[in-house]
Amino acid sequence: MKVVKLHIDILNMTAGGKPVISKSAVKQYVAWANQIYAQIGILFEIQGPIHIVNPPNGVNLNNGLEAIAGGLSNEEKALLSLAGAFRGVPALRDGDDDINVYYVNYMVRPNGKRSPFGTSFPAAVYNGPDDKYADSIICTDESADPSEVGGQTLAHEIGHILLNSVEDDHVDGQVGINQVNLMASPGWQVNGSVTDSRRITAQQAKAMLNNTKNLLRNP
Ligand SMILES: [Zn+2]
Repeated sequence: MKVVKLHIDILNMTAGGKPVISKSAVKQYVAWANQIYAQIGILFEIQGPIHIVNPPNGVNLNNGLEAIAGGLSNEEKALLSLAGAFRGVPALRDGDDDINVYYVNYMVRPNGKRSPFGTSFPAAVYNGPDDKYADSIICTDESADPSEVGGQTLAHEIGHILLNSVEDDHVDGQVGINQVNLMASPGWQVNGSVTDSRRITAQQAKAMLNNTKNLLRNP
């Protein structure tokens, strides 16, 4: 059994405004991730309280959070820089032994199109000058969306962090092709989203337990 630490921040819509999602909803997503990862002996522990925080300078949620596919928008950089501010350390990251999770209302591409429900920043991809953003996840309030996928997003994005691959981790996800796999993508486009089962293959499990040893500790 291995334990992975999660630091979670929920943003307010505006300074002093309403949180984008409730703590209880987020705890439910973590509980779901724990059910899914039990099959490979990984447990997620929320570190300290879940923080409710105002949007940092450079983040305006009135039009969602701008998310660039395979890159970092200025809003993403501003958001991911929160880690240091709240953990009181000089570096923007609070070490490389945990995953930082941020909840926003929704994400948009630079062209204005809605982006998927979550995005992840694996260390193997965000290294060098972008190292401080690594091992981070941005999730949205899926429950607010009618096509919501049932809270699988956090578990799926954690999968990307643990696989820590520069390759596309996604498996097809179409009916008949790994539809129930955790890394099926885009899961939310599959007719009749699978919400009752998310499997991890032996190959994925091996990669998750070997590719990010810095995040895995003994209980
Ligand atoms: Zn994905």
